[in-house]
Amino acid sequence: MHYCQRCDEPVAMAPRGDLAVCPDCGHTEPARRLPLFIVTGASGSGKTTVLPHLVRGLPECLVFDADWLIGPFERACEFGEVDWPALRDAWLSVAHGAAQSGRPTVLLAPFTREQLDVLAGRRWIRELYFAVLDCPDDVRTARLEARPRWRERAIDRHLAFAAHLRATVDPVVRTDDVSPEQSAAHIIAWVNRTLSP
Ligand SMILES: [Zn+2]
Repeated sequence: MHYCQRCDEPVAMAPRGDLAVCPDCGHTEPARRLPLFIVTGASGSGKTTVLPHLVRGLPECLVFDADWLIGPFERACEFGEVDWPALRDAWLSVAHGAAQSGRPTVLLAPFTREQLDVLAGRRWIRELYFAVLDCPDDVRTARLEARPRWRERAIDRHLAFAAHLRATVDPVVRTDDVSPEQSAAHIIAWVNRTLSP
């Protein structure tokens, strides 16, 4: 992500505090690092529904939906198959870019910590925080079945992923027994609490 502009060969720089440092010549450049908040959830969790409320409630952050890069990646990838690790790494780059303007990023994305920890962009993010949007299986099934026909369903796979996230991510924010505004309010409070404990 950061390559030394002094060395004759492309040398990947390493993070040190809020600097990128060339391991060969010692050249440095600014590389501010901030936390990245991942609001994860299996399909049908309500990520898209809470998005506008998070945008309104977190004006000091940049809020994105990871799905926004799927179309460009389908065009960029051979045979239209999205390279998911590359797409996740692209979002880490976006978050690092936003950090240069002093803005933490909140990303709605069906990602796990294990998927992000192995990526090149991970070390340019200060901390990764996860919350999960969740609902009971019958609610999720009904939501997925109500989607337009062009959207993939794969309901069993989404239920299994939801169970994994429910067991491994804290906090869990329910989206079935409260309004989208109330679900978003939990996320907003979690982000603000984490940024200014
Ligand atoms: Zn160098």
